[in-house]
Amino acid sequence: MVPCRIGLGEDLHRTTSGGPLRLGGIDIPCNRRLVGHSDADVLLHAITDALLGAAGCGDIGQLFPNTDEENRGRDSGAMLRIAAQLVASAGYHIVNLDCVVTTERPRLGPHREAIHARIAHLLGIDSSQVFVKGKTGEGIGPIGRGEAMGARCVALLASRNQET
Ligand code: MG
Repeated sequence: MVPCRIGLGEDLHRTTSGGPLRLGGIDIPCNRRLVGHSDADVLLHAITDALLGAAGCGDIGQLFPNTDEENRGRDSGAMLRIAAQLVASAGYHIVNLDCVVTTERPRLGPHREAIHARIAHLLGIDSSQVFVKGKTGEGIGPIGRGEAMGARCVALLASRNQET
């Protein structure tokens, strides 16, 4: 087994009027929310895909297809927990996650610690292993116009065999 593996996840969801905004597993006061088949938590989807990719366990579309009624309105935190279980079953543990959320608003700074804590709780890791940074769309394109939000995540896994 290789000592470490890296995974990349990326996602984009449309927004619509009316809050709160479910992002990173928490509800943020906002007049926009994300739209999708599940609860549309774009950040948790990117993290889920990064973890699945790193562990060689497929992708979120394979595991939780949006054609499946069971996944309608589904809590993305539950999907993330399943991805974490697959990472562990594959013989790896999470070293760290580094994430970017691209959104014109709201500003993520005031909510960042809560998001770190929620993601860490869902994955059974420490908050120091999760980092989320916010970027804007510079007022251009669908993200800049507030019509969509994007997220990316890089996940690093290490083999449990490397633990001493
Ligand atoms: Mg998605």
